[in-house]
Amino acid sequence: MNPQSLDQPWGRGFRVEHRHAFADGATLPAATFLPRGLGRSYGDVCLNDGGTLLHTFRRDRLLAFDEASGVLHCESGATLADIAQVMLPRGWFLPVVPGTRYVTVGGAIANDVHGKNHHIAGTFGRFVDAITLMRSDRAAPLELTATDPAFATTIAGLGLSGLMLDVRLRLMRVPGPGIEQETHRFGGRDGSGIDDNLELDADSSGWAYTVGWIDTLDRGLRGVFFRGRHAEGPASWFAPQPSRLTLPIDAPPWLLGHGSAKAFNALYYHLQSRRKPQRKQVPIWPFFFPLDAIGGWNRAYGRRGFIQYQFVVPTTAARETVPRILAHLRDAGVASYLAVIKTFGEIASPGILSFPMAGTTVALDIPAPDARDLSALDRADAMVADAGGRVYPAKDARMSPAMFRRFYPRWHELEAARDPAISSSFWRRVTARA
Ligand SMILES: Cc1cc2nc3c(=O)[nH]c(=O)nc-3n(C[C@H](O)[C@H](O)[C@H](O)COP(=O)(O)OP(=O)(O)OC[C@H]3O[C@@H](n4cnc5c(N)ncnc54)[C@H](O)[C@@H]3O)c2cc1C
Repeated sequence: MNPQSLDQPWGRGFRVEHRHAFADGATLPAATFLPRGLGRSYGDVCLNDGGTLLHTFRRDRLLAFDEASGVLHCESGATLADIAQVMLPRGWFLPVVPGTRYVTVGGAIANDVHGKNHHIAGTFGRFVDAITLMRSDRAAPLELTATDPAFATTIAGLGLSGLMLDVRLRLMRVPGPGIEQETHRFGGRDGSGIDDNLELDADSSGWAYTVGWIDTLDRGLRGVFFRGRHAEGPASWFAPQPSRLTLPIDAPPWLLGHGSAKAFNALYYHLQSRRKPQRKQVPIWPFFFPLDAIGGWNRAYGRRGFIQYQFVVPTTAARETVPRILAHLRDAGVASYLAVIKTFGEIASPGILSFPMAGTTVALDIPAPDARDLSALDRADAMVADAGGRVYPAKDARMSPAMFRRFYPRWHELEAARDPAISSSFWRRVTARA
């Protein structure tokens, strides 16, 4: 592990000071602390400036698996990468995965992460049967199940409700290590991208996974729609391919900017140039985790780093609000290389601070924002809030306390349930007096 990365969020860009402790026994640090998984959160939910990080990577054992129910009992520092690699050859896979497999079970629960199958599966937390939680104010660990009120403040609890020690997680059966994948190019005519994307989504019953890449710098919001479903595949696909490339150095600043983002997006779109959909069988790994193939890809944004801005707006507002927010960011000169759009389904999330809601979510990678970009994002926050939507804490390092309270009006219930010894940079920032 790169020691410097312990003091930075995944988006890099800034560094804070920590002390480090390791969750390998049954005691908690004497000082205030924050549990920490693999630090794949883009912003400051996984930072505790001036305090202690309690690392969970030594608690990474898979303890037991019940073939009849599909329930895996594992420690909270077990990674989705390890679980998938061990369970896939046995015919099982994780029911929800984010865009990287280098995430711990504890981290996936604490942000109640979502995947490309949200429309049929909901969030990660829905597949958690039980959590063993250790708190500084309780002598013995608590055994939480879904009916326990403390469950809803631990799922999407941003690590604040206690240290998860181990978890019972329901896996799902899959036919093999393959994905049947279809890609469709869409949009390109003025403003047509959102309509085309929503239509493709509506037309995707029978497809477990859907997601779109969009070129936010193009007025038509053109893009490429991906859909997939589990399939068989050759035995060689059980093992993930090793990273093909590792970025050893930070990219130079001239590589990044509005002009190069525009060129990159146009190239990517035209590489998918066929009008008719492309269908092929691919291994599970590049379908779900394309960026994992490039080790340290976050260095591509250079020393100044990047942020990710992810918002969701309700279904009724999506058609009108998403293009308006993207046009606003484009006009403000906010460049994004990688923008992903996804329609969330109706399934309710189990956490009181879970991010997903029925509607459309967009995630934008934005290189090294300057003050001008940040004020454009503040304006975007207001547009999201006015539409009844919210911004994702796992990706955030900048939303204001006032906006946080509009996005998550039940935040004070998490504050009431917070372990008094736990805090994070994020929590201190968004709960500061406005
Ligand atoms: C390339 C990439 C793609 C991504 N795609 C998606 C996506 O599609 N969907 C999505 O929802 N997210 C996505 N994410 C975000 C990522 O899934 C979340 O930030 C996830 O929570 C990171 O897990 P982690 O183990 O790295 O935890 P960290 O980032 O280290 O911590 C996250 C939170 O979990 C808490 N925590 C960790 N372990 C414990 C524990 N044992 N007990 C209590 N609290 C704990 C921490 O305190 C912190 O609040 C992506 C991130 C990357 C880098």
